[in-house]
Amino acid sequence: MQYMTILGSTGSIGRSTLDIVRRHRDKFTVTALTANSDVEQMIADCLEFQPSFAVMADEKSALVLREALASHKLKTEVLAGVDALCLVASYPSVDVVMAAIVGAAGLLPALAAIKKGKTVLLANKEALVMSGRLFIETAQQSGAKILPVDSEHNAIFQCLPADAQATLGFCDLHSVGVEKILLTGSGGPFRYTPVSELNSVTPEQAVAHPNWSMGRKISVDSASMMNKGLEFIEAKWLFNAQPDQIQVIIHPQSVIHSMVQYRDGSVLAQMGQPDMRTPIAHAMGFPERVTSGVNPLDFSRLGELSFLPVDFDRYPCLKLAIEACWAGQSATTALNAANEVAVEAFLNTRIGFTQIHHVVADVLSALNLDPANELETILAIDTEARHLAHQKIMELTA
Ligand code: NAD
Ligand code: MG
Repeated sequence: MQYMTILGSTGSIGRSTLDIVRRHRDKFTVTALTANSDVEQMIADCLEFQPSFAVMADEKSALVLREALASHKLKTEVLAGVDALCLVASYPSVDVVMAAIVGAAGLLPALAAIKKGKTVLLANKEALVMSGRLFIETAQQSGAKILPVDSEHNAIFQCLPADAQATLGFCDLHSVGVEKILLTGSGGPFRYTPVSELNSVTPEQAVAHPNWSMGRKISVDSASMMNKGLEFIEAKWLFNAQPDQIQVIIHPQSVIHSMVQYRDGSVLAQMGQPDMRTPIAHAMGFPERVTSGVNPLDFSRLGELSFLPVDFDRYPCLKLAIEACWAGQSATTALNAANEVAVEAFLNTRIGFTQIHHVVADVLSALNLDPANELETILAIDTEARHLAHQKIMELTA
């Protein structure tokens, strides 16, 4: 039996994770569930999974949840705040932690799990974008195992030889014959929208991804392809890749979830339905395979698969992220923070879609980007970049 903490259990990834648990009650027991403020969903999930702990981000939501669970005579202990998130992520009896909080808020709990040597199923890419080296090195020291849940990274992981899988973060791609990681992305909902019309697109249009159903933040990131940029940085850290070893390819159908190109000309691809339950089930079952409820691909009905190079004029956020990736940790931390603030402002209709890129670019050029490997420095850059991004947005909306 594997005992699990699910960080961000009410979100898109969290709900898919619970769906896999539901199918395999003989293999997985939920020790802790956590959420930001969705008390209703949390009540339903606590009743169904009866975890030992339920954590809400704030005390107010925790109070409502505590009373509701008490009225159902449930023994689940309700806690609140970041320290409580870290506690349940590192709790002694927990084996596996699903890191599925969105954004920088997921960093400290994910790191807490890594420090205690847990198996961490990593969906929260922002944590790795902010703290890649620290994250990977801490895992090496503690013996924590990281399994990628992001569909592309999960696909790449599946296409790598066992040697590379076993040394995630430190693998030598060259020595196992890998030429290149081919990171695929659909191009999002605005793949065919004239570039001149991009600034007038609405949040509703931006979150309507053609292939995947996801949370709002990552959906906007997919539309700008900042998501692919964050994934590029994520791939660099997970697979220890050098600048010429990662290439982004547009693949509108999202059937191939990424590929690995080998020295001898072979290309291995992982394919499947665009349903996150596949990579989640892969990571939960690894090294075994468990059922996920996902329909098999029917190749007789698939039609054509197509591929295109990236047009950086359409996706300037992707270019910024790739540049930040090779500039270093402080640049990627700042990029991530500025992007979170800008996406929030776009979702609240305070700025236009193309202004997301301007905000992030301005923050990156305004910051003094000294090396950042310590957690304190990383958090300080995150705070400063958020402050600058808010300032920039105020100027834009004045
Ligand atoms: P979501 O918005 O649907 O869910 C986010 C979860 O985090 C919710 O449970 C929410 O309550 C919790 N949360 C939000 N802010 C919090 C805070 N300040 N403190 C504590 N908890 C907080 O997001 P999602 O789409 O499930 O994405 C989660 C993560 O997984 C993101 O990092 C995303 O990039 C990554 N990811 C998602 C998908 C997908 O298909 N949804 C695919 C790949 C990677
Ligand atoms: Mg992805």
